[in-house]
Amino acid sequence: MTRTGTDEAIGSREEAEAFDRRDPLAAMRDAFHMPEGLIYLDGNSLGPMSHGVRDRVRDVIEREWGDGLIGSWNAAGWVDLPRRVGDKIARLIGAPQASVVAADSTSVNLFKVLAAAVALNPSRRVIVSERSNFPTDLYIAEGLAALAGQGHELRLVDDPAEIPAALDETVAVLMLTHVSYRTGLVHDMAATTRLAHEHGALTVWDLAHSAGAMPLDLSGADADFAIGCGYKYLNGGPGAPAFLYAAPRLQERAVQPLSGWFGHAAPFRFDSSYEPAQGIDRFLTGTPAVISMSALDAALDLFETMDLARLREKSVALCELFLTRVEALCGGYGVSLVSPRDAARRGSQVSFAHPDAYAVMQALIARGVIGDFRAPDILRFGFAPLYTRFVDAFDAAEILGEVLASGEWRRPEFSVRRAVT
Ligand SMILES: *Cc1c(COP(=O)(O)O)cnc(C)c1O
Repeated sequence: MTRTGTDEAIGSREEAEAFDRRDPLAAMRDAFHMPEGLIYLDGNSLGPMSHGVRDRVRDVIEREWGDGLIGSWNAAGWVDLPRRVGDKIARLIGAPQASVVAADSTSVNLFKVLAAAVALNPSRRVIVSERSNFPTDLYIAEGLAALAGQGHELRLVDDPAEIPAALDETVAVLMLTHVSYRTGLVHDMAATTRLAHEHGALTVWDLAHSAGAMPLDLSGADADFAIGCGYKYLNGGPGAPAFLYAAPRLQERAVQPLSGWFGHAAPFRFDSSYEPAQGIDRFLTGTPAVISMSALDAALDLFETMDLARLREKSVALCELFLTRVEALCGGYGVSLVSPRDAARRGSQVSFAHPDAYAVMQALIARGVIGDFRAPDILRFGFAPLYTRFVDAFDAAEILGEVLASGEWRRPEFSVRRAVT
C-alpha cells in the first residue's frame, strides 16, 4: 500500500479523506452493516456484522435447518464445521491445515489446552502468567490448578521483564496473551516461546487481540498451544465459537480432559469408553453450535484473500493517526498514553488512562464514538483495519478533545454504571 501516515502526521480532515481514497482496503467496509452516524472503535470487543454473515445465518436457519432438518448434519456439512472453520483460521495465525478447530468459548478452550500442556509436563507444577492478563485466563488457570490438586500453582509476574526470572525448573507452562487487552502491548512470540522451551516449559498463547488484526506465525514461533476469540477481529458475532491450536508435533500425545463424544475416534460407534480421535479433533468436546459457527464461517470469507501484512500496515497507520491527534489535542486534560508509543510493540488498539475514564467514555458514546472502558481507568480504542476509516480516527480524536475541553463528561448521567462496560 502507499504510505499511510506512519511517517507523516495527518493535520486536517481533508488529508484523512485523501488517505481513505488511497487506502486499498477501503472497499472492505462496504461488506459490513455499519450503522449511520457511529464511529465504531470497539471491534476488538465485538466485530460488526457483515452482509455475508446475515445472509448465511438466514440460509442456515431457513433452508439447512428449516427444510433440511437432521439431514443437514451430512448434506450441509454441519459435522465438519469445526475443522472447516479451523482451517480458515489456521491461515490467519500461521498454522498448518488440520491444526486448528473452532469450538466452545475461549475460556473453555483455554481450559482444554492448559490441562493438556500441564499433563505433558508432569514433573512440574507451576503455570506462569502476567497479573495483567485477561481475568478469565487467570481464573481458568486457578481453577485448573485447584482441580489438578497436586500442588499446582499459578505464578504471576507484574512486568514482562520478570518473565525470564520466573521460568525455573518447576514451570510446566508459560501462558500469555499475545496482545494485552488493556495496553495493546505485543509480546515477541518467537523469542518468548524459545525462552520457555529453553527452560523446559510449554507455551499457551491467547490470540484474542491479535487474530484477524495482524499476521501471526505460530509455526515459525514453534508455539505449542494457542486459543483465540471468534467475535472480536474475526467478526463472528456475539458469543461466536472460539478456536484452538495444538502443534502437530504434540497432537498425538496431548490429551484434554473434556473428553466428549465429538473428540472421540468414532463418535457414531457409541462406544462406552473414550478413545481420543487422531489429530486436532481430540480437542473437540460436544455438538458444535451450528448457527453461530456458520456465522463465523461466513465472517471469515472476508479474510480469504486478505494480505495480512497490508492489514497490519493500515492498522498501524490508523493507530498512529489517532494517537498523534490525541497528543496534539488532549494534552493537559489528564489523559496519558498507556499503550506503547512504538507501533512495532503495539497491537491494533490505543489505550489512554484518565482518572474519570468511565464518564469520559460514556460522554464519547453519547457523541457516537464507541470505544470502551476497562477498569479501573482505561479508555480503550480499537482500530480494526478491515472497516475503520482514517476519517473515523481523525474525527474520534477531535471529539475526544471536545469532550475533554468542554467538561461535558462531568454530567451526572455519564457516571451511572451499566453491567457491561
Ligand atoms: C476477550 C477475551 C477472552 C474472552 O473469553 P470468553 O470465553 O469468550 O468470554 C479471553 N481471553 C482474552 C485475553 C480476551 O481478550
